[in-house]
Amino acid sequence: MIIKTKQDEIQNYLIDASNTKGFCDAVYIPENVFEVAEVIKEANEKKQSVTISGNGTGLTGARVPQGGIVISTEKLNKIIEINTKEYFAIVEPGVLLSELQDAVKSKGLLYPPDPTEPNCFIGGTVATNASGARTFKYGPTRDYVEELEIILPGGDFLNLNRGENFADDLSLSLKTSSGKDIKLTLPDYEMPKTKNASGYFCKRNMDAIDLFIGSEGTLGVITKIKSKLLPMPAEVISCILFFESEKSALNFLTKARDKSYRTRAVNKNDSIDAAALEFFDENSLNFLVNDYSNIPPNAKAAVWFEQQCKENEDILLEQWTDLFLEYGGKEEDAWFALTEKDKENIIGFRHTISTNVNEYITLNNFRKLGTDVAVPDEKLIDFYYAIKKDVEEKKLDYVIYGHLGNSHLHLNMLPKTEEEFTVGKLLYKNICNRAINLGGTFSAEHGVGKNKTEYLVEMYGQENVNKMRMLKKTLDPNYILGVGNIFEKE
Ligand SMILES: Cc1cc2nc3c(=O)[nH]c(=O)nc-3n(C[C@H](O)[C@H](O)[C@H](O)COP(=O)(O)OP(=O)(O)OC[C@H]3O[C@@H](n4cnc5c(N)ncnc54)[C@H](O)[C@@H]3O)c2cc1C
Repeated sequence: MIIKTKQDEIQNYLIDASNTKGFCDAVYIPENVFEVAEVIKEANEKKQSVTISGNGTGLTGARVPQGGIVISTEKLNKIIEINTKEYFAIVEPGVLLSELQDAVKSKGLLYPPDPTEPNCFIGGTVATNASGARTFKYGPTRDYVEELEIILPGGDFLNLNRGENFADDLSLSLKTSSGKDIKLTLPDYEMPKTKNASGYFCKRNMDAIDLFIGSEGTLGVITKIKSKLLPMPAEVISCILFFESEKSALNFLTKARDKSYRTRAVNKNDSIDAAALEFFDENSLNFLVNDYSNIPPNAKAAVWFEQQCKENEDILLEQWTDLFLEYGGKEEDAWFALTEKDKENIIGFRHTISTNVNEYITLNNFRKLGTDVAVPDEKLIDFYYAIKKDVEEKKLDYVIYGHLGNSHLHLNMLPKTEEEFTVGKLLYKNICNRAINLGGTFSAEHGVGKNKTEYLVEMYGQENVNKMRMLKKTLDPNYILGVGNIFEKE
């Protein structure tokens, strides 16, 4: 096991992509699960804080330590098995998402979760229940996790298989591999019906495995993951459509969303059924124009869609084109991906807006002020215009883009001064509260981390957050893991 204690060697572990900064005494890099168990057991005995680190692409400060030690999962990086007959993969947590995606693709299979940043570790994606563009059709990471091996703070192993251990109403019993019984009482708050990555997943009669997915490094170290795979679709249509009016783009998008739902409801495969439905406002396009000079100059917004198909590409393309024209689109303002390389370029276009924003905030040395809110579908359009009006009234630079098919959007404020950052922070709070009050969430995919804990209280109330803390304390009595993530220590 490598142990790093020199400050110049551990700087990379003291930050994440949100530009949140931290400090710690040492970074432990175990090479097998027994070393993980050893380190965490010792830290537990010493009551020393432990922050689990994936690849640091998180956007909430969750892997950024505030003292104690870091356990990095980077050397637990083996793909253990890809099973092409039963469609599953077993991996260690430090496997890169891009590596798993490429490995299964080479065997004709698909691992659907696709957070925009492919440089994250699978362990990180499970710990945050990450999702991405294709979540619109395929759901978040949670939907693919079949089995987990977890090491608890005392060093005990816990193996959970989906479908084997359910709560009895709000009582959940876990048995560790050493035979220890752990009895948990689940809080009974109602989670929003939107896409959601805020706080513990808790509900009556739930599957035990779901508690650990999205628990942001606060309950145990995930050391092995078995994930479900799907057959790779024969063909994928991928297009970016540019509109000369923002309203038309939004109307097109909601129409395509509703058509997709209808197609799925009747289980057809010859009609519009987007896998991904992503939006870019005019400011996002302006932010991208240096990288993509061929963005049509009159474009006021764009929509990227992807649809999987099988020998019916022409029929589907015709339907998409008709819909585009119906909403004022012009054929010359569409980028159709004809080759694999074109498809990758389109994914690159979506990735670039996120990385450009993150680079901007790092360059200006601010913490990220990017919303991760989702609202019920029927509230999306009014919500969009309301928050856009708010940010414009405050005269802040901003971009809005993201997974609007899931009614989930990233409004990123781009402050230029400390004063603007302060104004932006207040506005950020208003936007989160507005989403919560509409029955949505302040975090649809990035999680709560250390930077969004106050909104969890807004969403579920202090009493329920206290119950989450109690639940954590049952699994982590010395309160050493992921301290400050999801909720404050006390
Ligand atoms: C440009 C960009 C785009 C992004 N787009 C998306 C997106 O579309 N969708 C999305 O969901 N996210 C997105 N993210 C956020 C980020 O990529 C995800 O949250 C990702 O899942 C984090 O993985 P990581 O390995 O980097 O984890 P880290 O940032 O290192 O850690 C995240 C959390 O997971 C915990 N953790 C990590 N590994 C383990 C483990 N083995 N056991 C227990 N806990 C663990 C950490 O303690 C921490 O709480 C984006 C980030 C960037 C920079």
